[in-house]
Amino acid sequence: MKTLIEDVTCAGCYCACDDIQVTSDGQQIQEVQTTCSQGQVWFERAAITDQLVPRILGRPVSQKEAIERAVELIQQSLAPLVTGLSQSSTDAQRAAVALADQLGATIDTGAAAVTRALQQVGEATCTLGEVRSRADLIIYWGAADLLVNANHRQSLETNSAEVSRKVIVMGEACSRETEFADEYIQVEPERELEVIWQLRALLKGVDLAGKEPVGIAESELQSLASQLKQSKYSVFFTGPEFKQGALAHRKLEALSLLIKEIQSERRCHAITVPAAKETKGAEHVLAWQTGYAAAVNFASGFPRYSPGEYQATRLLEQSEVDLCILVGGNPQAGLSEQTIKCLSNIPSIQIGPALIKDFQPHVFLPAGITGIHFPGSMYRYDGTPLPLRGFLPTVQNSEAEVLIQISKTL
Ligand code: SF4
Repeated sequence: MKTLIEDVTCAGCYCACDDIQVTSDGQQIQEVQTTCSQGQVWFERAAITDQLVPRILGRPVSQKEAIERAVELIQQSLAPLVTGLSQSSTDAQRAAVALADQLGATIDTGAAAVTRALQQVGEATCTLGEVRSRADLIIYWGAADLLVNANHRQSLETNSAEVSRKVIVMGEACSRETEFADEYIQVEPERELEVIWQLRALLKGVDLAGKEPVGIAESELQSLASQLKQSKYSVFFTGPEFKQGALAHRKLEALSLLIKEIQSERRCHAITVPAAKETKGAEHVLAWQTGYAAAVNFASGFPRYSPGEYQATRLLEQSEVDLCILVGGNPQAGLSEQTIKCLSNIPSIQIGPALIKDFQPHVFLPAGITGIHFPGSMYRYDGTPLPLRGFLPTVQNSEAEVLIQISKTL
């Protein structure tokens, strides 16, 4: 018998759209009503998850054998790393933190720049509901893809005649014309930090006369400063292009400081946006479990934070870990190509609902999908936690259950 399930949340990316209609016969998904191709792919994954079997070096084995081999690898390891946690539920992220604590391991996500800035200066952020109801100036900086995301645009639509809104697109790729922006400001990516500092100076009334602005045309810098001054509620969406480069965390810190200064007179917030197929949330779970949003090491028996030392990318590239435990539906999120190559040099355990293309972990432990097979929760990119439904049966365990099985077998 066909059943229509309404308002299902998709965990296929940071948007966490929660208005999707799914038709199911109780065993399989038959139809997903969404125009998002990425969302369709995420729901289609449910059809193959049940066929996945535990593997050791590609060889199918029983769950018990795979868990025992994973435990052996963990016991042989002196410096394990737990990473990934993108497209994972809050429960799985919490179980991953608990396992890292038990092992004395390092745990980090791929969202290094954001979490580093968050730890340093905090974050002045808001929900999408506030943006929709109040923002009169929205600036997409290095987030052109978000602007053209139909689900995102729909989430900001308002029928209120009181909200008259201006949309500015900033960054290197802003020349890509879109009908959804009112203004485009080209900024040289390597000069973005200086642009923020110049903006701070202008908003504080510092006279920049005689000093040629760098990275941005002078008229555009002046116009931006004046629009921020006139706005009652401005919001910056910073996307993946804004977070590139060695100084990405400094840019995010500078933007946070700019926003705090604007807040002394009017409302201003920022929402950081991950790359496509990535989700947010692991940084929140890490923060409320350990006090730190990323790059946490438990080797001393308590959580220590050191982004320079415990960043997953650096540890893998410098061969400072001897085992990697990858968790989640998109466990390589945020890792560079070079880092992914380094992953093949050490033993790895992968726990998740899909095999990674062109990568063979030493142990693969399949898991069902939270949001389709299991209920749970996840964070949307504005930091709002949303419930996930479990509406199909599965032969698999959840990621959290697999992590707990390993923990109990140790
Ligand atoms: S935008 Fe993201 S959350 Fe929304 S349907 Fe597409 S993949 Fe799913």
